[in-house]
Amino acid sequence: MAETMKGLKRSHRCTEVSSSLAGQKVTVMGWVQKSRNKGGIIFVDLRDRSGILQIIFEETKCGSECFEKASKLRSEFVVAIEGTVELRAGAVNKNLATGDIEVIASSLRILSEAETPPFPIEENSKTKEEIRLKYRYLDLRRPDLQRNLMLRSKVATIARQFMADEGFLEIETPMLCKSTPEGARDYLVPSRVHPGEFYALPQSPQLFKQLLMCSGYDRYFQIARCFRDEDLRADRQPEFTQMDMELSFVDIDDVIDVNERLLAKLFKEVLDVDVELPIKRMTWQEGMDRFGSDKPDLRFGMELHDISDVVKDCGFGVFTNAIAAGGSVRGINAEGQGSLPRKKIDALVEYAKTYGAKGLAYIAIGEDGSLKSSFAKFMTEDEMSNIVAAMEGKPGDLLLFVSDKNKVVWDTLGALRCHLAEQMGLLDKNVFKFVWITEFPLLEWSDELGRYQAMHHPFTMPMEEDLQYIDSDPGRVRAKAYDIVLNGNEIGGGSVRIHQDDIQEKMFECLGFTKEQAYERFGFLLDAFKYGVPPHAGLAYGLDRLAMLMAKQDSIRDVIAFPKIKDASCLLTDAPSPVDDIQLKELGILVEKDQKEEEQ
Ligand code: ASP
Repeated sequence: MAETMKGLKRSHRCTEVSSSLAGQKVTVMGWVQKSRNKGGIIFVDLRDRSGILQIIFEETKCGSECFEKASKLRSEFVVAIEGTVELRAGAVNKNLATGDIEVIASSLRILSEAETPPFPIEENSKTKEEIRLKYRYLDLRRPDLQRNLMLRSKVATIARQFMADEGFLEIETPMLCKSTPEGARDYLVPSRVHPGEFYALPQSPQLFKQLLMCSGYDRYFQIARCFRDEDLRADRQPEFTQMDMELSFVDIDDVIDVNERLLAKLFKEVLDVDVELPIKRMTWQEGMDRFGSDKPDLRFGMELHDISDVVKDCGFGVFTNAIAAGGSVRGINAEGQGSLPRKKIDALVEYAKTYGAKGLAYIAIGEDGSLKSSFAKFMTEDEMSNIVAAMEGKPGDLLLFVSDKNKVVWDTLGALRCHLAEQMGLLDKNVFKFVWITEFPLLEWSDELGRYQAMHHPFTMPMEEDLQYIDSDPGRVRAKAYDIVLNGNEIGGGSVRIHQDDIQEKMFECLGFTKEQAYERFGFLLDAFKYGVPPHAGLAYGLDRLAMLMAKQDSIRDVIAFPKIKDASCLLTDAPSPVDDIQLKELGILVEKDQKEEEQ
């Protein structure tokens, strides 16, 4: 029978018990990690979220009833133990924070028994993720996940305190919002009171935080849950958390300044890492030209080289045609990879194709300087050596080239560069390289929609000096937008907002909205701006990704207590699930029959 607390109070967490308490009584509570019965003595490793503490039951010290009870202990039983701290008589266990002491038990309460868990509760579990997620409450007992969630909590606490000290107000914005599709797909919530009408869950607090600026709150902060119904991608979650902020009477530098100090504080206090300030800034154009990416990983080099000028008159049609069509030929130098076996090079070619490249041309430079290449037969010797020189190729290097439209070239080489760096072991999780990416294009052409789309969102301010091109060459207009990038991950992004009606109208026009359509969706914001709006700007971090990088994990699922899997379902609760017909009826919703059957 499970016992109860009945006046018993925990005095310490497991690893708070230390040698400085030798000789004193303590009361500890937690889960049995393991228990070994060595005849007259029972060793129990007790675990709580702080770590592990060794407890010893000796019949002569705790009495026969208690000893008898202790002999029944099994893994994951929940217990309360009173005892005396002693310095270890035997060998000190250097792997344990409490390895120099043990607690000699005087009493034991079994607060709850436990069945054998479906997988061992231990660090670095090899258990399949589906099983871990089905039994997430057990998985969350594992020390690595507990550390991750404790780190995440610390990040949130420090950020809140920092923002408060800087004069930011924490204000909640609604979860039930108006659907304003532009960007990702909304999650919709049916209204019972207004049959046939829907709320949308927020993709971000963007519009509300801008309204708060109109209302004079000046500096806003929120740790906000956001929802985006996007297509399945490996490391995305349908709901995720932003650390969101907005500031009035500011320009780019003010936002960057406050955020650099926030990042420096977080990394110092959580990881004891010094972030060098000011953080480097790079324009979007430079990011694409040098790294093929608007979120470049600066932990390693392998920069892109544009060799279009070198090959524009060569005999290789694949190169010259791409250049003639307005594209380019660029390459990266994978230093020291010249002897990569053919099979591995073929795998790189296949990888490149997944980014839209038609192929991947290469030159492998032998240790003796000889060249092996997929396109040598179209080139003169001089042309080959000019390419090698332009790529700074040395004996033993592997040069890889893509020729196509610039976007395809950048995307492919940008991804390949990171893929190779991973294979070459260049990605050290203990190194943190930050960079601000600035001067993004305001608009991005969508072939699918046949019109421009906002690269950030429709409220982002164009750069003043580019406003002149907004009618003649909208694609050329740069935005007052910025992303903060860490080790090849966009951890946050934001912009200065448009606060002038005429520019906002122009922006909607560029995005193909009529005045009426713009009003139907965003009228409340446009109206609010008529009553006096300060210039404002803001930024939002993806807290999950930031915590993942700080915890040195590979997946955001490892820093989210109850994550969903790739198809947006929850393996623990089985959400989403069918609902009662009564519920549907109340909402005035008819589910198409074949759809319902398919799901069952
Ligand atoms: N709301 C924006 C986003 O979710 C961030 C911002 O501009 O502040 O990306």
